Amino acid sequence: MRDNPWERARAQLHAAASKLELSEMLLERLENPDRVIEVSVPVEMDDGRTETFHGYRVQHNNIRGPYKGGVRFHPKVDMDEVKALAFWMTMKNAVIEVPFGGAKGGITVDPKKLSEGELERLTRCFTRELAPAIGPQLDVPAPDVNTTPKIMQWMCSEYSSIVGSDTPAVVTGKPLEAGGSQGRTEATGLGGFYALSEILRLSGRKRRGLSVAIQGFGNVGSYLAEFLKKDGFRIVALSDSKGGLYVPKGIKDLKAVQACKERSGKLAGCYCVGSVCDLSNMEALGGRDIFPEEVLTLSVDIVAPSALENAITSENAGAIEASIVLEMANGPTTGEADEILNRREVLVIPDILANSGGVAVSYFEWYQNMQGEVWSREDVFAKLKEKMDTAARSVYDVSKEYNVSLRDAAYIVALKRLAGSS
Ligand code: NAD
Repeated sequence: MRDNPWERARAQLHAAASKLELSEMLLERLENPDRVIEVSVPVEMDDGRTETFHGYRVQHNNIRGPYKGGVRFHPKVDMDEVKALAFWMTMKNAVIEVPFGGAKGGITVDPKKLSEGELERLTRCFTRELAPAIGPQLDVPAPDVNTTPKIMQWMCSEYSSIVGSDTPAVVTGKPLEAGGSQGRTEATGLGGFYALSEILRLSGRKRRGLSVAIQGFGNVGSYLAEFLKKDGFRIVALSDSKGGLYVPKGIKDLKAVQACKERSGKLAGCYCVGSVCDLSNMEALGGRDIFPEEVLTLSVDIVAPSALENAITSENAGAIEASIVLEMANGPTTGEADEILNRREVLVIPDILANSGGVAVSYFEWYQNMQGEVWSREDVFAKLKEKMDTAARSVYDVSKEYNVSLRDAAYIVALKRLAGSS
């Protein structure tokens, strides 16, 4: 049975709420999004046809500030997914302590099948439909799966022309030259690295040399891999939607692997030695190609699902060999799988903590735009580290105080902050 992410989000809310005395009003508000927007997005295709796409924006809750959350372009986007993602943003923004509420948006589309012109027209039309409901003090979209800085720039420019003035703070994740922040592109992966490091330190576990398998090698997975490797972790497996590669001794040149994936359209086969990346190097490196689902159950210390929801299910949770799951994707673990992992004492660093670095730097970008400031990359990274360390410590301390998982602890931290603001 497909795990419905919105039902799971509500179950997570109830599990944590049962440990606290919350007002019925707050619970009702969190169980029901403030506003649900569904739009039609007609686009003129390159061949002259008009195709209509379906778009969504769910504004879940704004107790703590303007709605904030990404926009996803993917064929599987639907209302329940967007509702769950918006709810998780409310919780995440409270955990990482940025003054935002939670929202999420998306369009049901496979952007890889569109030309650049079609993608731009789709984005601009979606922005026009959402324009009355977004704005720097109202709702601030950002990038997510398959949405890039360039797409954010189109959203910003369309919104600015509608309101008649340059409004960079309406979206975050923009390119630097369009008012983006230093460090936003790397932020989610880097934040995951900081969160993992702090949890390892607090729980007295060793860190250097630990082996890591990463599912998903997009924005989040690729930067996570880079920062972990730089710090001495061994990246042994990477995967994308088509497959992946497993090199038990560690993948040496991540940049070359990335360039190979961009050239060939897939990760499998990207065995790089010097400038040559192909299957001829597989044997020398002691590697092998893997199926997409295999990446999660390899014999490693840490797995980092960094792709989509429902990656770890009741079917594969029992086969996970890692002792730590770092949830870089949103909602990668189903409810049943979460119970199995807890029973097996696998340490799960939950999504609303692990991937909150993205929205932390989105907040920095919004703040710089609102104040007319420009921060250096070093400054952004230092501020991000401080935020991630503080959030990880709050969650860890609450997990000890209440004797609960890190996930329940993260929800408790978030709910207490939401209750304090309501
Ligand atoms: P992306 O579009 O840059 O990359 C997604 C990657 O996942 C791609 O490499 C794709 O090939 C891969 N993928 C898709 N299906 C897969 C499968 N079945 N197996 C293995 N790989 C698969 O997206 P992203 O921005 O890196 O987002 C990844 C996840 O992180 C999402 O859950 C997103 O919501 C979450 N997230 C992103 C940000 C951000 O700042 N971009 C912030 C917080 C959370």
